[in-house]
Amino acid sequence: MAARGKVLITRPMTAAVETRARADFDVEIRASTAPMGRAEMIASLADYDVVLPTLGDAYGAEILAAMPAPRCRLLANFGVGFNHIDVAAARAAGIAVTNTPGAVTDATADIALTLMLMSARRAGEGERLVRSGQWRGWHPTQMLGLHLSGKRLGVLGLGRIGDAIARRAHFGFGMEISYLARSDKATGYPARRAESLLALAAAVDMLVVAVPGGAETRHLVDAKVLAAMQPHAHLVNIARGEVVEEAALIAALEARQIAGAGLDVYEFEPEVPEALRRMDCVTLLPHLGTATEEVRSLMGHMALDNIAAHLAGAALPNPV
Ligand code: NAP
Repeated sequence: MAARGKVLITRPMTAAVETRARADFDVEIRASTAPMGRAEMIASLADYDVVLPTLGDAYGAEILAAMPAPRCRLLANFGVGFNHIDVAAARAAGIAVTNTPGAVTDATADIALTLMLMSARRAGEGERLVRSGQWRGWHPTQMLGLHLSGKRLGVLGLGRIGDAIARRAHFGFGMEISYLARSDKATGYPARRAESLLALAAAVDMLVVAVPGGAETRHLVDAKVLAAMQPHAHLVNIARGEVVEEAALIAALEARQIAGAGLDVYEFEPEVPEALRRMDCVTLLPHLGTATEEVRSLMGHMALDNIAAHLAGAALPNPV
């Protein structure tokens, strides 16, 4: 039995996670699936020992400063991405932050491969054609897409998820891997570190974005990067919407500077611009990266492990 403490979980969780949370802590689980509002977030810092927030719960500097001497001492984020939390401001307020790395890796890489294939092989467009009742039958030049096997993949951010994507692409599809990261990576497959993002973008048939969000990576993929890509190439983003300048992406797609895009995340999520929604060469998923029962339970258990350690005064398993 974990040390009990007053805990707020900001969204409904899987049954397994809710059952454990109720058994182990004095827990309140918000019924809403929507992000918390400003007043709710400020109150949460006064009312709970720990908050388990997630994507959309924007614990920024202003919110954290609004509650001096908070009761809350841990934000146990549900998710590996924590760019919605101002970690420095939390630290200054005496609040630790943890996340759930690793649990999300394979599922998110699988969604990247889904988008790579859907975009290259025009799967969304084809599915819409069949559903519309307008399909007139197979012919040799019907809906020709990009053959992915043996092509060049560029991975922007060769971390846990980027590496899992590269592995799948290399061993499954014989793709040639190049990447951009801040440091050299030892990989279990041949991979070349690009000199710059522009060089990476220019050299590949498929560019996949797998860097964390936040100030450092905001609009990393901008008009210049998109202009450097080849006209037959596709862009896939499974990271955070803000890493890709959405207006520049729309312009590049409309001008056919690139052949297509596969997106799991959006700059102003959950808003998806009409311009993207009406383009057939764009595959759009509703942030499905980790959306399986097992993975969401694993993430929840990892967040609860961090809470249990914190309440027991032990070292945090996943501090950020
Ligand atoms: P990670 O292991 O920390 O990997 C991030 C990689 O990005 C590292 O290789 C890092 O390079 C690189 N990087 C960071 N800043 C960079 C920069 N400015 N320029 C170039 N490379 C940079 O993280 P992860 O577990 O793979 O997760 C990556 C992100 O995916 C998360 O932060 C999250 O936002 C997103 N995500 C999305 C979903 C979804 O549902 N779609 C699910 C899970 C995660 P160094 O190692 O050299 O520093």
